[in-house]
Amino acid sequence: MVNTLNTPFSYNRPENTTDSLKKAIVYKLIFLIGRSPEEASQRDWLNATLYAVRDLVTEGWISTARQARKDETRRVYYLSMEFLMGRTLSNALISEGVYNLAKEALSELNVDLEDVLEKEVDPGLGNGGLGRLAACFMDSIATLAIPGMGYGIRYEYGMFQQHIEDGRQVEKPDAWLEKGSPWEFIRPSKRFNIHFGGHIYFEGKKCIWENAEEITALAYDQMIPGYNNESATTLRLWSANAGETFNLASFNRGDYFHAIEEKSSIENVSRVLYPDDSTTAGRELRLRQEYFLVSASLQDIIKRHKRTHETLDNLADKVAIHLNDTHPALAIPELMYILIDQEGYSWQKAWDMCRQVFSYTCHTLMSEALETWLVEMMAKILPRHLQIIFEINDYFLEYVRTYVTTDNDFIRRVSLIEEGDTRKVRMGWLSVVGSHKVNGVAAIHSDLMVSSTFADFARIYPERFTNVTNGITPRRWIAVANPDLSALFDKYIGTEWRKDLAQLENLKAHIQDPELKKAIPEIKRKNKQRLANYVKQELGIELDPNALFDVQVKRIHEYKRQILNVLHIVARYNEMLANPEKDWTPRVFILAGKAASAYTAAKQTINLINDVANIINNDGRLQGRLKVVFIPNYSVSLAQIIIPAADISEQISLAGTEASGTSNMKFALNGALTLGTLDGANVEILDNVGQDNIFIFGNTVEQVEELRRNGYHPFDIYQSDAQLREVIDQINSGRFSPKEPTRYHDLLNSLRSYDYYQSFADFRSYVEMQKVVDEKYKNQDAWVESALQNIVNMSFFSSDRTILEYAEKIWKIEPLKLA
Ligand SMILES: *Cc1c(COP(=O)(O)O)cnc(C)c1O
Repeated sequence: MVNTLNTPFSYNRPENTTDSLKKAIVYKLIFLIGRSPEEASQRDWLNATLYAVRDLVTEGWISTARQARKDETRRVYYLSMEFLMGRTLSNALISEGVYNLAKEALSELNVDLEDVLEKEVDPGLGNGGLGRLAACFMDSIATLAIPGMGYGIRYEYGMFQQHIEDGRQVEKPDAWLEKGSPWEFIRPSKRFNIHFGGHIYFEGKKCIWENAEEITALAYDQMIPGYNNESATTLRLWSANAGETFNLASFNRGDYFHAIEEKSSIENVSRVLYPDDSTTAGRELRLRQEYFLVSASLQDIIKRHKRTHETLDNLADKVAIHLNDTHPALAIPELMYILIDQEGYSWQKAWDMCRQVFSYTCHTLMSEALETWLVEMMAKILPRHLQIIFEINDYFLEYVRTYVTTDNDFIRRVSLIEEGDTRKVRMGWLSVVGSHKVNGVAAIHSDLMVSSTFADFARIYPERFTNVTNGITPRRWIAVANPDLSALFDKYIGTEWRKDLAQLENLKAHIQDPELKKAIPEIKRKNKQRLANYVKQELGIELDPNALFDVQVKRIHEYKRQILNVLHIVARYNEMLANPEKDWTPRVFILAGKAASAYTAAKQTINLINDVANIINNDGRLQGRLKVVFIPNYSVSLAQIIIPAADISEQISLAGTEASGTSNMKFALNGALTLGTLDGANVEILDNVGQDNIFIFGNTVEQVEELRRNGYHPFDIYQSDAQLREVIDQINSGRFSPKEPTRYHDLLNSLRSYDYYQSFADFRSYVEMQKVVDEKYKNQDAWVESALQNIVNMSFFSSDRTILEYAEKIWKIEPLKLA
């Protein structure tokens, strides 16, 4: 690209040197931040560097947008309530190929780049896997130059900061914007009015929505740089334009929902992210948030389309809108509303367009996670949209009666409206009916989706369902997170793997190379030392980098079964005390993750982990051979330090509950061995790495279902397994909570009587498999061989592959041919 802008630092300029970057940074420091180099803090240097690098990305960003406009290409719009992006600067420096240049430039200014990188806030605009997936997708969309953009909400407060006090989770507000947000561009001209409330009436056939409230959505754009392609894509986040302050006092009192809803007045709509992962909130403010995202984004999409094409007749040819879970499913009735009420299209024509435009990703199988909204609530907030949903339902049920079945039971099951004492709108059903493609996120999940959750719909629309297995971006999860492993790849297979992970195949030729075999454990050790330093500094706990690092980091949720991990840790502790002379493989158990603020069982689990850690870490009889650490405030930045340091990746959800998982992929790509159930993408990881290089245990989906069908009796397992019984009895008697012996009674009673996620059923096979892990670790050659087999066989799990599949199978979009 020809540089027509007079930036001091730019693409393809001979003067792109340490010196020119240094000048650009100092320029930004003085003229944008208003500080002299002598007075600048680390944060000032961070922001100055961000601004300088932002200039570099901006050129490619503008030219990419210009080209997409010029080519009038079909575009995809990715709608998601969450984007868990992580820090920007290190990733941008790598994408632009100027990491080392920046390091030198800053060092000449007596500033250390790594220290500066640590100062960047990590915006937590997501709960966990779903939001992180959206972030990996944006990175791949940018790198592949897929024409399109992301839409989300610019929450003023992201995911809460997790503190641990006396072993318990305490939530603190995440005021991420307070330190400034130099990466974003405010778009004062992109504002749209969003309406709520009021009532509807008909004038002849025309429906009029007389709304009662209006709020303005204002756009903030973040650039997502593509890797080494002088291109960038846009993530547009909407902010509600209003001034009321948010109740920090109740936040600090720990009353999270009260803080969120204190003023459920409309200005609060972009104030704070709901901290519930995999369960629905069912609250009015959340419904308003979802509509806020949808309405602003659709108005923007329609306006852009009209500017280029002057008509909406070809909307379905040019626009694909993807729904990341059901959270943005109101986009379906919203597009109907725009096309019919505002643009005068017939109902049938509007509906045909809708079904060509939308596609939907399902992220769960668990019924408690399927979103529904009370009809009553929707009538109050979005009367016209509810009316449209009723019309869609009439049309759909008529189709079912005519072409599929007149069976009333079937009709009742597939109705978009759940009947009963309280009527509810089923957002999953709406998403299926309004989309042309519905995908699950791993092979096993997509199969189960069709045979269970959406079985009735698979009968009505068999061609609609498909699978697109999730992936992760190798830029952030290797290039940024694991620089030493990156350098090793570069040495053996060149640098192309960053945008073509299939290049890892070429590493297979070197797999017996003694140098390579030596390097793998050296790199792992360095990463373990890096994590040990962090733990020492933050928690004051000493970790031995020679020990096996066994890691489970993810949201705390019953289905993910952190409790199973804890039960094994206590069992191991008992065994070690009983047989102190045995050559125990030293182990460090590392856990991290946030619990939804109102989720009692999850919070209890965190408490238990910390109580157990406290006893074990202070028991001298173990001679340091067993340690347990709970690292507070899990985030993308923490994941980047923790994951490359893992030897074992715990992926132990009950079979049939984890849709895909993505941390399982991050771990394996960084050379950890998976200890997991046959659930989610673990199944495909097994297929790719081979059974000798993974530890699979536990019941299969079929066995889980059989237990559920035939009656599952956890109490019998408790009674018959002496080791399990000892563990449960110890926790129950206050062995780990002597000051409050009854602390875990509820948790344990629930396990013994219901154990909905069948931890007891898998306990024995888990404990036995952990012994296999110990033995394998003693044979370091075999371990390193398996770690390498994991690394070289992970190319399938790149989010670039995932996005190309979406583009081809679902969106029908081709990458831009960049000039
Ligand atoms: C990858 C990632 C997740 C998802 O982890 P799972 O184990 O797949 O649930 C959640 N949070 C963060 C910060 C992540 O990076």
